[in-house]
Amino acid sequence: MAFKDPIRRKEYQHQRYLDRKAGILAKNREPQTREKRNEWHRLRRQENGDEVRAYHNEWRKKNAIRVRIIQALGGTCARCGFDDIRALQVDHINGGGMKERQMFKNGYQYEKYVLEHVTEGTYQVLCANCNWIKRDEEQELFKYRKASD
Ligand SMILES: [Zn+2]
Repeated sequence: MAFKDPIRRKEYQHQRYLDRKAGILAKNREPQTREKRNEWHRLRRQENGDEVRAYHNEWRKKNAIRVRIIQALGGTCARCGFDDIRALQVDHINGGGMKERQMFKNGYQYEKYVLEHVTEGTYQVLCANCNWIKRDEEQELFKYRKASD
């Protein structure tokens, strides 16, 4: 739509601008549109929140201090080479792990201590089977019971 008169053209363009603006404002004011938009954002936040939470949980699991200790000790059972971290345990080579553990307020404090002393050669990684077998062989359980009697 071409106007030869620049003033009329300007008027037309301005009117078009006002009409569009009014239309956009009216749309924004529509309660349903706004609710829908808020709902969309709420759902999006929820989805993102789950993603973020899952990511952080995964990170925490991967970087859990127990995992870091096991990795620092080679990540495989010292006896049989088993390497599934879910069944690997930190073992006190010379025994006395239970007593040592009792010196600390909680597991986290103890694990922090172990991680700091992980290179001193007093700890090793054993799988659950080998750990129990070692306990039986060395009668660690018996010693522990006797010590706490
Ligand atoms: Zn093993």
